[in-house]
Amino acid sequence: MNSVYWFRKDLRLHDIPAFKKACLESSTVIPLFIINESLFDKTAYGFTRSAASKLLFLYQSLEDLKKSLQDFGLDLLVIKAAHQEAFKELFTKHHIDKVYFSEDIAHEEKQQELWLRQNFPDKKFVSSSDNYVFNHSDFEASSIKNSFTSFRKKFENKFLSTEFTDAPLDLKAALNPAIDWQSSLNPQDLISGLEFESDPRSAFPFYGGEVSALARIQYYLYESQKIKSYKETRNSLIGADFSSKFSPWLANGGLSVKLLMHEIKKFEAEFGSNQSSYWLKFELLWREFFKLIYYKHGLKLFQKSTRTFDKNKFQEWQEARTGNKFIDAAMTELNLTGYMSNRARQNAASYLVHDLACDYRAGAYYFESRLIDYDVFSNWANWQYIAGEGYNANTHIFDIEFQQNLYDKDASFRKTWLD
Ligand code: FAD
Repeated sequence: MNSVYWFRKDLRLHDIPAFKKACLESSTVIPLFIINESLFDKTAYGFTRSAASKLLFLYQSLEDLKKSLQDFGLDLLVIKAAHQEAFKELFTKHHIDKVYFSEDIAHEEKQQELWLRQNFPDKKFVSSSDNYVFNHSDFEASSIKNSFTSFRKKFENKFLSTEFTDAPLDLKAALNPAIDWQSSLNPQDLISGLEFESDPRSAFPFYGGEVSALARIQYYLYESQKIKSYKETRNSLIGADFSSKFSPWLANGGLSVKLLMHEIKKFEAEFGSNQSSYWLKFELLWREFFKLIYYKHGLKLFQKSTRTFDKNKFQEWQEARTGNKFIDAAMTELNLTGYMSNRARQNAASYLVHDLACDYRAGAYYFESRLIDYDVFSNWANWQYIAGEGYNANTHIFDIEFQQNLYDKDASFRKTWLD
């Protein structure tokens, strides 16, 4: 039996049950990644959906995955096309019986899956869970409260007590790739022509891909034990270690959140738990919450804004020309690196929607375009949470001057990015 494993936001070889299943059940497995042309679309606000920073991280992650697969004698087939065209071509050229993939409930990804199922009823489709601890189908959508605190009180114990095991990957069965590899793109093609080098001041001086993600766990938990002071440092603005920096790998799947939770608990068992090690799990629960908020509200997460889009004000914000140095420093960091701390994100978002009274969707799309950790649920729900739009009726306004005096008292963040 010939199969395709369709990699999407799961660019790794650990905790990947559907890939394992494909390898066990098939005589040939084609590992496939589609560089979807919609990545390069322009948003309604005039900029691309994927800036160079985001593409560079994706390229690194694909390179890493390709190397890992090659170690097993497999290769990654990379096709740049609309997913419909990619599958049509693949099914025409090769006899494929089954397509395996990790589930993804985000709107566009779900539409892709539905299209495949409808258009190829003769194929079998097999999926396994996504990169979250909670499986949405275990929840009654109406039981999910819009308030994080209510959600946490109800489901935190379940979240913290979830056990995780990952059997080793056995790729022997799949060592017969009957594929014309010449048709495959090199991940390098993703970044050809792009002029982008990450800035040496970046708070995220790491590489995309599973290998770097696992190294970061080793460093952050075990070697430096920075996790022990996470709660005290997490609102800082400069440097690689004030927060965990796991988000980019979680977003494109170089790192499984179940493995991460397992490692945090292992660390606690070995070295003791404290408020900080708990707090890292607490923050990861926000990530779960926002996925379930989407599960409950669906497209409301992208709902039209109650504010208007002011092109000039938006461009000043986007190009770090507002005149507010704290905000301009944050936006400069985003533009030059594709990363921004949580504290800076909150302030930048609040400034756009509350101080400039601008449509939150322009800001959310801009973050989507730039962030190397762009995650549809966390991004859009955080924007609505601050703006008081869509799923969330309460606004969260950040007093920028107060925040700057609290978190950038000596102006080192502003100096780092503006001097
Ligand atoms: P840590 O502080 O080390 O947190 C550990 C992990 O907890 C993170 O990796 C992340 O998975 C999770 N987490 C922490 N805070 C949040 C939060 N507020 N919401 C959801 N999950 C959280 N995060 C994304 O992963 N992708 C996004 O696209 C994204 N967009 C955002 C947009 C806005 C306007 C705001 C205010 C926040 C956004 N966040 C997003 C949440 C948060 O800012 C980042 O997860 C965090 O800064 C990533 O750095 P870290 O991994 O070092 O975080």
